[in-house]
Amino acid sequence: MSENRPSPSRIAVVVEAPQHSGLWGALDYLCEQPLAPGTLVRVPLGRRVVTGVVWQAGADSAAGEVVEQDLKAVIEVFDGLPPLPDAWRQLVKFASAYYQRSLGEIALMVLPPELRQLDALQWGRRLKRLNKAVTDAPSVPDEGALPVLTEQQAQALDQLASAGGQAGDKPFLLWGSTGSGKTEVYLRQAQRALDEGRQVLMMVPEINLTPQLEARVAERFAGRRIVSLHSGLTPAQRLRNWLMAHYGHADLILGTRLSVFTPLPRLGLIVVDEEHDPSYKQQDGARYSARDLAVYRARLEKVPVILGSATPSLESWYNALPEAEGGAGRYVRLAMPARVGDGDMPRVRVLDLSRAPKPMRGQEPPPVARELLAAITQRIEQGEQSLVLLNRRGYAPVLHCSDCGWKSGCPHCSAWRVFHKVDRTLRCHHCGFTERVPRACPDCGNTDIHPVGRGTERLEEQLAEALPGARIGRIDADVTKHKGALEERLADVHAGEVDVLVGTQMVAKGHDFRRITLVAAVNPDSALFASDFRAAERQFALLLQAAGRAGRDADVAGHSEMWVQTYHPTHPLYQALSRYDYADFAAQQLKEREMAGLPPYASLAMLRAEAKTQEAAVAFLNAAIEAVAHLAEALGGITLYPPVPTPVQRVANVERAQLMIESPLRPALQRFLTQSQAVWLELAQKNRRSGLIRWAVDVDPLAI
Ligand code: ADP
Ligand code: ZN
Ligand code: ZN
Repeated sequence: MSENRPSPSRIAVVVEAPQHSGLWGALDYLCEQPLAPGTLVRVPLGRRVVTGVVWQAGADSAAGEVVEQDLKAVIEVFDGLPPLPDAWRQLVKFASAYYQRSLGEIALMVLPPELRQLDALQWGRRLKRLNKAVTDAPSVPDEGALPVLTEQQAQALDQLASAGGQAGDKPFLLWGSTGSGKTEVYLRQAQRALDEGRQVLMMVPEINLTPQLEARVAERFAGRRIVSLHSGLTPAQRLRNWLMAHYGHADLILGTRLSVFTPLPRLGLIVVDEEHDPSYKQQDGARYSARDLAVYRARLEKVPVILGSATPSLESWYNALPEAEGGAGRYVRLAMPARVGDGDMPRVRVLDLSRAPKPMRGQEPPPVARELLAAITQRIEQGEQSLVLLNRRGYAPVLHCSDCGWKSGCPHCSAWRVFHKVDRTLRCHHCGFTERVPRACPDCGNTDIHPVGRGTERLEEQLAEALPGARIGRIDADVTKHKGALEERLADVHAGEVDVLVGTQMVAKGHDFRRITLVAAVNPDSALFASDFRAAERQFALLLQAAGRAGRDADVAGHSEMWVQTYHPTHPLYQALSRYDYADFAAQQLKEREMAGLPPYASLAMLRAEAKTQEAAVAFLNAAIEAVAHLAEALGGITLYPPVPTPVQRVANVERAQLMIESPLRPALQRFLTQSQAVWLELAQKNRRSGLIRWAVDVDPLAI
């Protein structure tokens, strides 16, 4: 070592490492200059050079064995990029531990993809361009008149004003009917944070909902820098917006679940709109819940968080229920039951299908019963619109040969292929396998193969037949694939060019339709008997949300209706819906969950395995149970259920199985999972040759 050069120091860096590499923490590198934790660097990893985040100055204790001369040196430092803040690292660390993923995977996954690909030189150029963009001053604020708050909004805002005081460390659950003006509450609370020089993070469940919110926020906060963050942006846009947030230039950040990880130096408020929405949970890789991380982050950074919904998740509801009412009392509940103005929620009409005339032999029942058809016809005559909801896309879920019994199964999955009439294909919605519809039955040659059941395509066709002259529109994932297609179709509806809109859950959420006075759910029963314990909760939320699309203008609200076609008219779900009694519905559900030992009364995790054969998947899971049984025993209160095939057992020729792990105590479950990971990792390495393809833990799974 020479006299005039300081000896290089050791630093710990996290890099993106595949989950199964066994690399969970940071790697040690050498660096000439001391680097602050959170600094972005380029380091050698094997034969590649990768982006990493300095995790701590000094060596990672776990890797302390390595002798100095074996360590590699940091290659480049991203100058001009402020280190990612401590709070960011803390959030990443928590997510990594809680969701059982490696630190590097989470840390790098939540950075803009573009940033991970730049080298220091390219980064420097980007930075220059960004600095130029930022000097463009935003437009001058326009002092539009604010609406006068409703009494309930004012009350909610009063309680929010106490944030930072007594209730300051408690999350808020804003439980407001659709159309009660929740957004106005978010905006006012955002104003307070902005006035204090803070940044606001507002999250929505889906990209589709960001433009709408963006427009409202832009209108209210003209003169403020507003950026959005979601996967629909180009990589360059996403990097730019993320940097604006990280530098503290952006005042408001609107985004989908990934935005929860945005580093924000001046964070002052987090809003999670439609907090019950399943889209907040990532469904592959690191299966994190952005809603739950938002709550953690708010506590960490000591800022208020508002979870808003008309139909909160049962977890949030339970947390916000006072202890005196059997809840956890951890959240503050703000209730806004009334809609703004005089707009009542539409009257619910439960239509008993078992009383409808039976279809003739061999015929399918009509898509909408006679009374409902008459009601829709009447709306058309009055120049009003109807929304007909069916949560299944395609023409028919299956084709069938009545001669030999052939059905349009997918050769690669344990699922039917859906018939799409527009392009005459059979498509598997699980693996994507697509073929032209055969002219005749592939098994027996019979030419009379027919669709069974109904999807939105067929519903559209049948309604057009039943309502001659009516303009029928459709919105689902199939017709909105291309950029701008959804906006176009929505514009048609808003412009009154559609009389009857057929749609999936996609249209039930958030959209502010003005002339819809009738909403009908034509086949909602399937959710009542689903094996998934959250199916009822989700269905109730969807129906209530759909009902909220009707009568949003006071002058039509008086005669708005929500129709439900069902064979189970007395089912408690529909009864609660008729009264818009979410609290009653939630109470029913909580009682069932408590008896069954399900969330929120217990914590769940799912261990999933994918393999070439079902036997191999199950064998791995059985071995996994055996290998950690002693850990479960020692901790106590952990139940390991036997492995079972997943609801769709085979997808793209891969067999899947899972086992449920349950505990009444979250910390016990966490400790168990953390201890088990290493054991399972080793077991999986040993099982490589037995046909095991992948395995993963899903903490707080949405579906079981
Ligand atoms: P939510 O998000 O609860 O469904 P919104 O915030 O979209 O409800 O509000 C419904 C409608 O009522 C919107 O058009 C909004 O502009 C309007 N609105 C909200 N608050 C007020 C108010 N205090 N006075 C008048 N109109 C309001
Ligand atoms: Zn046949
Ligand atoms: Zn398939």
